Amino acid sequence: MSIETSFKNRLGKSVLFHEPLKNHVAYRVGGPADILAFPQSEEDLVWIGQKAQALSLPLTVIGRGTNLLVSDKGIRGITVSLEKAFKTIELLSQQPDGKIWVKAGGGVSKPELLEWAVQGGFTGLEFSSGVPGTIGGGIFMNAGTKYGCYGDILKELRLFDFSTGAQTFSRNEFHFGYREQTAVKNRLVLWATFELIRGEPMAIRTEVNRIIQERADKQPLDFPSCGSTFKNPEGYSAGRLIEKAGLKGRTVGGAQISEKHANFILNKGNATAQDILDLIQIAKDTVQSQFGVTLECEVIILGN
Ligand SMILES: Cc1cc2nc3c(=O)[nH]c(=O)nc-3n(C[C@H](O)[C@H](O)[C@H](O)COP(=O)(O)OP(=O)(O)OC[C@H]3O[C@@H](n4cnc5c(N)ncnc54)[C@H](O)[C@@H]3O)c2cc1C
Repeated sequence: MSIETSFKNRLGKSVLFHEPLKNHVAYRVGGPADILAFPQSEEDLVWIGQKAQALSLPLTVIGRGTNLLVSDKGIRGITVSLEKAFKTIELLSQQPDGKIWVKAGGGVSKPELLEWAVQGGFTGLEFSSGVPGTIGGGIFMNAGTKYGCYGDILKELRLFDFSTGAQTFSRNEFHFGYREQTAVKNRLVLWATFELIRGEPMAIRTEVNRIIQERADKQPLDFPSCGSTFKNPEGYSAGRLIEKAGLKGRTVGGAQISEKHANFILNKGNATAQDILDLIQIAKDTVQSQFGVTLECEVIILGN
């Protein structure tokens, strides 16, 4: 039986072959995934792990692709996305002091969980206002803003290991820092539990709207990007360094360093991944030579 047939027999319409990943990432660039699988259950994940091992195929996990730069040659082996499953939000417990725990699947979108909290009148997730992508990607990146990050409110984590299966962990077993964590490496976030506190619904909505407006005022949201390209080096703002280096508006092919916020590299319409990679290199080299500061990518670069 061919590889395609065995995947179709198991996953039906939840698997695509030679699928252009530009259709699945925020940047709208990137070549094909040999196999793009959307598992519907832990059993599917076990099956995919066994297949990958038996066929010696590499495994790559993606969420909504809002922090991914996929190469123009694409990704070999099996790419696994939780985007179409693991999407439940469940209120677990409410305590007399107003604290609640909410369990969110790795495939839940961040804006959806935030909206759930706003509508329920729970405070704690406002920091994530305007941050796109899935909860799984949010945990992997320890995504956040100046107002907080997922590691701050995380309580429990269920992780899937393609070799050993699923296990639940307490947040305290791991370190969560600025856009980094020690929990997820080579594993997949199935769900996460967060602690929120009962609050005043109108005040929560007002704060969320304020943060979204603040972001829209500063960030170029009209063109595809991955948000901040680089992490802020200790004591510096990556955007300000790139701006001071005179690189605002610098273009390679269809990609441009934003005129509005220099830490954003935009796809102005027909960029390739290589155009964006070239701009990343120009920004790194120029900031290094002018200021002696090393820029580290926040965006995750995947593929050949
Ligand atoms: C306009 C814009 C604004 C943004 N603003 C912010 C911001 O303010 N703060 C911020 O932190 N980020 C920001 N980002 C970046 C991005 O949204 C976050 O990093 C987000 O958490 C990525 O989630 P995702 O589901 O898209 O993950 P992806 O981009 O698909 O993947 C990112 C990483 O997470 C891993 N991953 C994804 N899902 C899982 C899973 N279930 N289990 C294990 N690993 C997984 C992938 O392997 C990959 O290494 C912004 C992006 C855009 C486009």
